[in-house]
Amino acid sequence: MTSDSGSASAALYERARRVLPGGTTRVTTHSAPHPIYLESGNGAHVTDLDGIERLDFNGNFTTMIHGYAHPEIDRAVIDQLARGSALPMATEAEVALAELLCARVASIDKVRFMNSGTEAVMSAIKASRAHTGRPKIAKCEGAYHGMYDYAEASLDPAPSNWGPGGTAPVANSAGTPQGVLDDVVVIPFNDCAATARIIEENAAGLAGILVDPMPNRAGMIPATPEYLSLLREVTRANGIILILDEVLCFRIGYHGAQGEFGVEPDLTVLGKIIGGGYPVGAVGGGDHFMAVFDPTGGKPALPQSGTYAGNPVTMVAGLVGMELLTPAAFERLNGLGERARAGITAAFAELGVPGQVTGRGSLLRIHMTDRTLTGYRSAYPTEEERARLAHLCGYLMDHGILIATSGMCALSTPMVEVDIDRLIEGVRAGLAALGPAA
Ligand code: PMP
Repeated sequence: MTSDSGSASAALYERARRVLPGGTTRVTTHSAPHPIYLESGNGAHVTDLDGIERLDFNGNFTTMIHGYAHPEIDRAVIDQLARGSALPMATEAEVALAELLCARVASIDKVRFMNSGTEAVMSAIKASRAHTGRPKIAKCEGAYHGMYDYAEASLDPAPSNWGPGGTAPVANSAGTPQGVLDDVVVIPFNDCAATARIIEENAAGLAGILVDPMPNRAGMIPATPEYLSLLREVTRANGIILILDEVLCFRIGYHGAQGEFGVEPDLTVLGKIIGGGYPVGAVGGGDHFMAVFDPTGGKPALPQSGTYAGNPVTMVAGLVGMELLTPAAFERLNGLGERARAGITAAFAELGVPGQVTGRGSLLRIHMTDRTLTGYRSAYPTEEERARLAHLCGYLMDHGILIATSGMCALSTPMVEVDIDRLIEGVRAGLAALGPAA
């Protein structure tokens, strides 16, 4: 990967590591031998401190669906800045964004805003507990839902510690209290029989089931219709709240992932694209479920607060960003996604090297294996697959194309067909340079 020791990024790293652990603020921006620091982003491109411009398929980890410095979003933000970036009372801006979300998503009557997906997942879990009076939460092995203790359990277990499916959750952070793990139930994504058994066994203590219908870190494999139906049935039958985490995959359709997958959750967690590029999270759901947040009759069951929750800069940016995402915009963007998936799939076939592409809409993820992928364990890469993917990402990076090191790519609306073809050709050339698998 591009990283000569005389580069501006290498020099900034020396400064950064004295004041930031590892020289950055997010584990996801860390890279060896040093992080690459960006100077700016514009449209579908980012430019690093050394002036190297790259076509960006990372999009701040899928968030920047309109690319960088979108003029209409910038205009709304600049107008708002003149009226205050954060205010001590509610504003119309939060009402307007909530109206848009409620109008687009059938299962959402009301919305509460937070500052991040992590916070929104935490709030949804707490809402499910407040609603049911039960302590436990079920989540899929390998799925990322942010950093809340309960949500991050069994995020990335390895074959050495994952045990037989449906066993004790694995702590993600050192020092996680056993009491937290005792209240987490881990289910295997897309495995109906095992999930049904585990949920039935734990039903009496379960407040909620937290599920992402296409969990990126678990392989970006879409949930099967049978799996989502099972979760819906088993939650209804046992009074458990079904929480759909759409922080990442809300971007796959006009009515969100639930519109595409045909599932009706009790609570939905949102983030990323609904903030127009500013920090955001939200919980939405039917009136009945959202009542736990309502302070009208005195202290609510869940007294949610947050200094920057619903701040007007995020709200106005989010509203413009979401309004730009018309049905036609989704159709075009998702068409580019189809083109990318088909082109990369064809490149693997033509070169005769193992590999496949998962994802849906404007999201895709490259895997360096021909195994049938159904969930976290089947998608878990071997050492060789991991090394081959790292080489491919490094090749693309050195040839002006940025994708996530997991192999995940997110398209943005400033992109056109030639950008997609550049990605496909870059992958083809990178695979050719890699040669056959062992
Ligand atoms: N849930 C999902 C599905 C996510 O992808 C993410 C972030 N990648 C989160 C929750 C956490 O969101 P945030 O980074 O805004 O805290």
